[in-house]
Amino acid sequence: MTNSSHKPPLNKQPVAASEDRFRALISATSDIVYSMSADWRVMQELDGRGFLSDTKQPMADWLPKYVPSQDLEKVKTAIDEAIQEKKIFQLEHRVLQADGSPGWTFSRAVPIFNDKGELIEWFGAASDITERKRTEEALREERERSEQQKRLYETITAGTPDLIYVFDLNYRFTYANSALLSMWGKTWDDAIGRNLLENGYEPWHAEMHEREIDHIKATKQAVRGEVAFPHATLGRRIYDYILTPVVNDKGEVEAVAGTTRDVTERKEWELTLARSSEELQTINEEMAAINEEMATTNEEMAATNEELTATNEELAVLNEQLLAAQQKIEEAQMALRLAINAANFGTWFIQSETREFVADARLKEFFGFHPDDEILYDDAINQIHQDYRQQAAELMEATFSKGTRFDMEYPIIGHHDGKTRWVRGIGEIQRSDGKDFFAGVLHEITEKKEDELRKNDFIAMVSHELKTPLTSVKGYTQMLHSKMKRGGDDFAASVLEKANTQVAKMTSMINGFLNVSRLESGKIHIDLQLIDLAELIKEAEEESLATISSHQVVFEPVETTMVNADRDKIEQVIHNLISNAVKYSPGGSIINVACTIVNGMANISIKDQGMGIKPDDLPKIFDRFYRVEGSHMYSISGFGIGLYLCSEIIDRHHGKIWAESELGRGSTFSFGLPLSGQLQNWIADDVCQD
Ligand code: ADP
Repeated sequence: MTNSSHKPPLNKQPVAASEDRFRALISATSDIVYSMSADWRVMQELDGRGFLSDTKQPMADWLPKYVPSQDLEKVKTAIDEAIQEKKIFQLEHRVLQADGSPGWTFSRAVPIFNDKGELIEWFGAASDITERKRTEEALREERERSEQQKRLYETITAGTPDLIYVFDLNYRFTYANSALLSMWGKTWDDAIGRNLLENGYEPWHAEMHEREIDHIKATKQAVRGEVAFPHATLGRRIYDYILTPVVNDKGEVEAVAGTTRDVTERKEWELTLARSSEELQTINEEMAAINEEMATTNEEMAATNEELTATNEELAVLNEQLLAAQQKIEEAQMALRLAINAANFGTWFIQSETREFVADARLKEFFGFHPDDEILYDDAINQIHQDYRQQAAELMEATFSKGTRFDMEYPIIGHHDGKTRWVRGIGEIQRSDGKDFFAGVLHEITEKKEDELRKNDFIAMVSHELKTPLTSVKGYTQMLHSKMKRGGDDFAASVLEKANTQVAKMTSMINGFLNVSRLESGKIHIDLQLIDLAELIKEAEEESLATISSHQVVFEPVETTMVNADRDKIEQVIHNLISNAVKYSPGGSIINVACTIVNGMANISIKDQGMGIKPDDLPKIFDRFYRVEGSHMYSISGFGIGLYLCSEIIDRHHGKIWAESELGRGSTFSFGLPLSGQLQNWIADDVCQD
């Protein structure tokens, strides 16, 4: 606009005067000045003042040169409005500065009218507001950023249950998050700008924090603490808090920010944990002890298990064996039953303690009972023939009390039929289920017994018949012997003496048979009387001196020994044993006869130095008709009844007889009798057959 040659032709004088003043104004202002055609299409002139580039020539396409595209529309609109209304154009908008960088301008333009009131030109001024706009923009951005930050903090602090707050140095709250507000039960406006006391803190609590704020201000150090106080709704709680200094760019503390966390649950949990860990410690110790025990037990268990496994295996094997054994036993039992039936045996068993008596049908039949009669032990005993009953009962009792084997032959009188049956009973004590049973079998021997009896009767009869002529023969030979002696016929006398000896031998043999038959038919009688065995020995000594010249018989020692005995029978026993010693030992050897008291029993022993007896034969020599076999026996006469008779006699005296022997060295035959006092007692509480 400094170039006047381009101005439209106006009324020159007034315009020139005002134009001068106008120029001066323009020079004085720092603003950009410009002029536009009436329709703003052409920029006639622009003095850019270094801000925008100057335009000295009218310029049609000024808009894109001065205005950046983003503000073009805004500028056009404002221009159109101004033209339309012929009013002042006024707008803040972006511009492209002279150096090409974007800037801001505040532009005002006034319409210029001619005399006719026609709009002929616009005259404008624009100021550089780039700096202000930048500051405003930065401010706006900053505000926006801080708003955003605040929203972010708000979001964060609202979301946390922790209490977040800021104090100024006068202990007033300048910030409190929603958790703290809700704890107080207050709104932002009620709480912010107030101090601790005003926000309802108790004096001690308020003072505490005030002291801490002072401390932080002085030291710039954070403070951490724990405090318990009542919450508006939750009651008494425990809080952990940290107060930190907020330092400005000068390094001064200008505020104190704090966070507080409710640690009640954590505390409780810690407490519980501490207690639990104590308990745990105790439990652990106990567990350790238990573990040790368990370990030991486990080892033991393992060992036991191994043993058990082994035992189980053994058991399995044993079980199999047991089953096999059971089967065998069953088979054996069956076989036994069949055998017993076949053998026609009756069986019994008696419980030792209760004397409960169990008999099978066959046994009942032997005793003359019906198969289903209920019989007791005593019922059975009572059916035994009275001559044998006592002995049978005694033997039975001996089995119960001493466990001796029962073996006896005896007649039974049938209960219902009155029939006499001879039986042999054999039994012994058996142990089963921890109880003693007297078990046995019974078989009928009536026929055999009747045979024996007939035989015995026959022997007795024969013996008796033989004895009569023999007694006569003995008489005649003795008579003849005396006569020959007197007549001096020594030869005849000696022959007759030998005949006499043979007759005596024969008499003794026949007597032996007679005795056996008497014994067997129960016709032998024991006449007990008090005797001194020493006297019997003395008589035997005298007899042996007279009759035995082949051996040296020594009677020593001989003690006075009183017994109740049948004198003749005991004499016969002694005689028998001495005769055997002579018979079975070599001539010239010594025979020792002794009569002593041993263990409270009268004891008589006859010891020879003869052939002796084999151990196998020893137990049998007292059996009837038993003779030891052997070539040497051929020359020694005998029937095997001597020792049998001895044992029967001693038995009937309740004594015992036995032999000890060494083959080739000699034998000792002994018998013992109860001493008189003992025998009396024995008889008193027991039974002794006459
Ligand atoms: P015997 O009439 O045969 O002598 P005994 O009954 O007296 O009958 O004896 C039975 C058997 O005992 C005899 O046959 C004999 O073998 C044996 N005996 C008996 N006494 C003696 C003894 N003192 N020394 C050796 N053997 C004996």
